[in-house]
Amino acid sequence: MSTCPLCQAEAAREFTRVESFGYPLSYLQCGHCGFIFQDPEKTEAANPSFYAETYRKIYQASPEPTAKDLRQQELRASDQLDFLQAQGIKPKRVLDIGASSGLLLAKLREGLRAEVGGVEPGDAYRAMAQARGISVSPSIEALIASKPERFDLVSLMHVLEHLPDPLGSLRQIREELLSPDGFLLVEVPNFYAHDAYELAHLACYTPHSLRQMLRRAGFEVLVERQHGWPRSRTLPLYLGILAKPAPGAEETAVQTESGVGLKRSWGMLKRKILTRIMPAKTWLPLEGPQ
Ligand SMILES: [Zn+2]
Repeated sequence: MSTCPLCQAEAAREFTRVESFGYPLSYLQCGHCGFIFQDPEKTEAANPSFYAETYRKIYQASPEPTAKDLRQQELRASDQLDFLQAQGIKPKRVLDIGASSGLLLAKLREGLRAEVGGVEPGDAYRAMAQARGISVSPSIEALIASKPERFDLVSLMHVLEHLPDPLGSLRQIREELLSPDGFLLVEVPNFYAHDAYELAHLACYTPHSLRQMLRRAGFEVLVERQHGWPRSRTLPLYLGILAKPAPGAEETAVQTESGVGLKRSWGMLKRKILTRIMPAKTWLPLEGPQ
């Protein structure tokens, strides 16, 4: 039986079958809480060597970042900096998990005058971030083993959906890396607007399930946002959350989300309509839909 990464129930049923980069994928739905996920035991993408070598090659046909990829990262980084500044958050020490080539960290170092560090499993990307003078570890475990001083902002940009045990990783971040009065910044694809099915996406988050995941890991959600920048002006492609460690105990009960399949169908229909009636606003020029 497959265990739900959110509520740990063993009551999953197949939700859909798709193909991604030539690999057949099976997404399951938890019969208890409604969460959509791939069984990490059965998918290639949960293997640690997948990210070190295979991931960027499959996604971009090259281990180096493409111009489009860098442009997207640059626009995302500016958007996150604007968001943090609008919230009045001024961290002294920032950690970006899934730091890629270090663009976000470079932006935050400059814009917030913060000390920055990263975690990035991809060898070529890690080397690029290090070339910017950023200290980057290959894994969360390697970073924790180096006993770093606590960070007052930890960001996970388009990372949570790739982790085989998101709940465990979030708890580990809260317990071992984030300072008790620090902030957590998370962004993931929105299952109700983004294509979302991809070999490396082990879970598909809805606004409800993302909130539940953070609460269960011991975080209090402060701000939630849905937006499409830098890909779309009309579609809420991404879910963003700003959270902080909750003072009390972790929440154990997960509230069930019903109607996930219907909401997905409705979101994808809306996307199709907007693509047809407002193509230029719906897909900004960064090559192809997501
Ligand atoms: Zn569940």
